[in-house]
Amino acid sequence: MSTCKTCDGKASVTCPKCNGKGRIKELLGGSHQCNNYNGSGGVKCGTCNGKGRV
Ligand SMILES: [Zn+2]
Ligand SMILES: [Zn+2]
Repeated sequence: MSTCKTCDGKASVTCPKCNGKGRIKELLGGSHQCNNYNGSGGVKCGTCNGKGRV
């Protein structure tokens, strides 16, 4: 087992949907919470399957 290089051991990677911001801008203005990872701005790392280690 060693630290996952994809997520640097954090077990999550930047959410591509909201770019890690946790909120998604709407076309008409305003924003809503990204539903990936409860708006934390990250998604589970696929390399280590969310464990942070491989
Ligand atoms: Zn997101
Ligand atoms: Zn990882």
